[in-house]
Amino acid sequence: MSMRSPYPDVEIPDVSLTEFLFADGFGDRADAPALLDGGSGTSISYAELAGMIEKIAAGLAERGIGTGDVVALFGPNSPQWAALFHGILRANAIVTSANSMYTGGELAHQLEDSGAKMVITVSPFLDRALDGAKQAGIDAAQVLTIDATDGHESLADLLATSAQPPALTTTSTDTAVLPYSSGTTGLAKGVILTHRNLVANLLQIEVMGDVNSQTKIMAFLPFFHIYGMTVMMNQGLHARATVVTMAKFDLAEFLRITVQYQVDRLYIAPPVAVALAKHPSIDDVDLSCVKTIFSGAAPLDGELGRAVAKRLDCTVLQGYGMTELSPVSHCMPDDRGDLDLNSSGFALPNIECKLVDPESGQEVPVGERGELWVKGPNVMVGYLNNSDATDATKDADGYLHTGDIAVVDDEGVYSIVDRVKELIKYKGYQVPPAELEALLLTHDEIADAAVIGVKDADGEEIPKAYVVRQAAGADLTEDDVMTFVAEKVAPHKKVRVVEFIDQIPKSAAGKILRKDLRARETA
Ligand code: AMP
Repeated sequence: MSMRSPYPDVEIPDVSLTEFLFADGFGDRADAPALLDGGSGTSISYAELAGMIEKIAAGLAERGIGTGDVVALFGPNSPQWAALFHGILRANAIVTSANSMYTGGELAHQLEDSGAKMVITVSPFLDRALDGAKQAGIDAAQVLTIDATDGHESLADLLATSAQPPALTTTSTDTAVLPYSSGTTGLAKGVILTHRNLVANLLQIEVMGDVNSQTKIMAFLPFFHIYGMTVMMNQGLHARATVVTMAKFDLAEFLRITVQYQVDRLYIAPPVAVALAKHPSIDDVDLSCVKTIFSGAAPLDGELGRAVAKRLDCTVLQGYGMTELSPVSHCMPDDRGDLDLNSSGFALPNIECKLVDPESGQEVPVGERGELWVKGPNVMVGYLNNSDATDATKDADGYLHTGDIAVVDDEGVYSIVDRVKELIKYKGYQVPPAELEALLLTHDEIADAAVIGVKDADGEEIPKAYVVRQAAGADLTEDDVMTFVAEKVAPHKKVRVVEFIDQIPKSAAGKILRKDLRARETA
């Protein structure tokens, strides 16, 4: 037995994302700002965006980028990032969006695995981009910048072309993007999302919320992550709204930009809710423009959400998603701010769910905990170059096994209550334990290691390493371990607590028994 969404199905047209977003023109929104850089105040209108996309596609084609080629975007949010994203798709190519905090080594993994031919970055990231490209065997000449940088081609060079763009030959079943996610286990993998996946999820979320041409969306959460990409960037563009970008979150800047541009819809991850609920500077500004705040990417504490709603006198909503789901499968509709804010609302249209006991494989009744399985047109095709991981995550009936534990009530409201997969989320960003464990094992004085997520004093999930010292490593300290990791990974992946242990609990097959480690934490 599966549970269908309470909403009627939406029809998903058989078109590419490019046609879906841009084929119909912009009517009276042609000269309205599509994307506005909150930092500088410069904006790109819908007509300008459409022109840039055509030019970028032509410029890329001149440089040998065409059907099925992968181009990596490695930069912070900006209107130009969005134009490049759509220019790459318009060139019939594929975007792999890289975490802008990545080190050169982390970027290299994604470039190599995705088979990227070109990297487009910004000058402050150029060193890391060049390092990653070099390690992945990509020529430095294939590293372009968004802002002009000596010795490298730039967005301006792409736009300067006089060539015509290639014909748009992309179909709905072609791959559009390859964001990276570790899924339920292992290292970061390329998530194959087709144009149809992305179009479907836009239509599914549009039923739930009122985003229209007058909406001003705040986009400080990264476009490289599927939440920013679909829910902020593409939903905003489809609604002909204005997407206000911020390169990174800074509370004072965020407040200034929100007030200056009268932003009415905020998309946040839970750590920002803490600032909104508690930071004194919120009282110094008039945030009455903010009507709706939507939280996703990690569990929102209901009490915290209510405190934000009360303080800002606005509606707070929560949604649940996963890169592999393009990303949203559940959310609260705009008019149901009355729902329990610990929950993630209803299944979106076209979605079927099961809650399954991970031990027995049996479906559980209403009110009981089970692993959430999701089926729908937004479910990824699979992982790139990794059929084993695909088979372990998506079953023969098309259900994606999320690795999250949920309960559902009689009304069809889902609450995510636990996670059974390895994944740790630090401030909404993925931290794959397998990656940190592999790194720790390269240390001469470490015999064995396991990494799990634990809660800090503020209830934030943080990565903790259990470490077994080598006999010769008796002097190894917690700080040594943390420094060793911090030097090699993006900041969100730092190990923040270390405990030395005699032995890592493992199954007969040698698998780390994370459950046992978690039990130690709560004992
Ligand atoms: P990502 O692929 O980076 O979007 O991470 C997806 C994971 O984030 C999910 O599988 C959940 O573990 C977690 N997550 C996302 N949204 C929520 C939510 N509203 N409540 C609890 N966990 C969430």
